[in-house]
Amino acid sequence: MLSSQNYMTDFNFPLEGTYTELPDVLFSKLSPTPVSQPKTIIFNQKLADEIGFDLSGASEEVRTLFFAGNLVPHGTAPFAQAYAGHQFGNFTVLGDGRAIVLGEHRTPSGNRIDLQLKGSGRTSYSRGGDGRAALGPMLREYIISEAMHALGIPTTRSLAVVSTGETVYRETELPGAILARIAGSHIRVGTFEFASLQGDKAVTQALLDYLIDRHFPKIKEKENQPFALLEAVIHQQAELITHWMRVGFIHGVMNTDNMALSGETIDYGPCAFMDTFAPDTVFSSIDHKGRYAYANQPYIAQWNLARLAESLLPLMDGKKEEIITMAEELLNSFEQIYKSKWLSMMGSKLGLSEVGKEDEKLITDLLDWMHKNSADFTNTFLNLCKEEIPEGVLYASEDFQNWHSRWQNRLSKEEQGLESSFALMSLVNPAVIPRNHKVEEALQAGEEGNFKPFHDLLNTLEKPYEDSDHLLPYQTPPEPGEKVLQTFCGT
Ligand code: AMP
Ligand code: MG
Repeated sequence: MLSSQNYMTDFNFPLEGTYTELPDVLFSKLSPTPVSQPKTIIFNQKLADEIGFDLSGASEEVRTLFFAGNLVPHGTAPFAQAYAGHQFGNFTVLGDGRAIVLGEHRTPSGNRIDLQLKGSGRTSYSRGGDGRAALGPMLREYIISEAMHALGIPTTRSLAVVSTGETVYRETELPGAILARIAGSHIRVGTFEFASLQGDKAVTQALLDYLIDRHFPKIKEKENQPFALLEAVIHQQAELITHWMRVGFIHGVMNTDNMALSGETIDYGPCAFMDTFAPDTVFSSIDHKGRYAYANQPYIAQWNLARLAESLLPLMDGKKEEIITMAEELLNSFEQIYKSKWLSMMGSKLGLSEVGKEDEKLITDLLDWMHKNSADFTNTFLNLCKEEIPEGVLYASEDFQNWHSRWQNRLSKEEQGLESSFALMSLVNPAVIPRNHKVEEALQAGEEGNFKPFHDLLNTLEKPYEDSDHLLPYQTPPEPGEKVLQTFCGT
């Protein structure tokens, strides 16, 4: 078996490292720690094609060694990123403790993307951790990130999972794995918090310039760039959270280090999709107070953005009090921006091309009814995508029938007609989501060496807006005994 990092090969896949031109304090150059028995569990050929990641010249064995971190291509200088973060509200210095960016790749459309290995060994930021990851959580990230992408939600992507043949020790002994992940970049709100902590304006300025160059080139022409950036990120994050709310996604650990300034959903730990609609739903085993509950996500996003603003303050021109007032006003605008995006999204879930003032009550009344009746979030909207009133005891209630006729009445006022409303609804209301009990089932089987449920689930989630009979086993909410009430970080 090939497992040495020094294995001689002409494998040539140079990745760039523009991030390492930033001030040294922001990263550490180091290589992944080789693993003893790497084996590819899954390789995302479709994604590789999409991003022009051509590994066809490499044998399968060499490809496995590459994703395991055993083989670092010539001309590539991997690094771990430094960052800080507010975890459940408390400031901590962190960094890539178990991840290494192999480098940056240019896609055919000219975008620069990071290729990161997660679970690739200890780094200078590992603190007490082993730098490794368990197979279950890496498969979870693969499933959920790919599902999010198929749902049309900005996200990091999963390129491969490799099992390491090594055991990781958590509460129990678990099989180890590495996830190869693709991201627009890995710059987080926490990266700015870390830069700002250095007390040297030049570090934050360099990071800001880099971020603008990579993700917000239009801002280059603007005058007050830190403000312009903050404004752009406010819109970007309001958009992202609106998507999450649309599909019932609960991130679970919205710490500032898990908020990416590429606008992508990042770091799938104890995340999960809600079955029964309840605004206070929490899955994460460590979120005792429900800080990151479903309905809290927009407030937390705003809170995190305030941390970004604080980190940018030293770069803002003007008198201190005036700058603070301006930044506060900007941050307060998040509420209105989010609300308007949310209303328009919820309107589209109900087939409304535009949402008027009186429509908000129609939306909230449905949500209240769903909450009161423990209705399934995904299936309720899916069931509304039909001309007839949905079947089932739940929908036979007078409350629902009344709401339904109000809705029909409102739909009749849509200029484009009913067909167009249903077309709109089918674009935003998924027929299938990665339900937690199905995800757990796939992970458990995978941990026992059976990857069929994992692959079946992935196939099912590829076209989530196309309803069909074969989806049925994945559309059915869990039976009481199947319900997964808690998810774990798996770190
Ligand atoms: P996460 O909860 O995955 O966002 O991780 C929070 C922080 O803990 C990050 O700085 C991670 O790099 C670090 N971390 C998580 N798991 C490990 C591990 N097994 N070894 C070292 N650091 C870790
Ligand atoms: Mg993280």
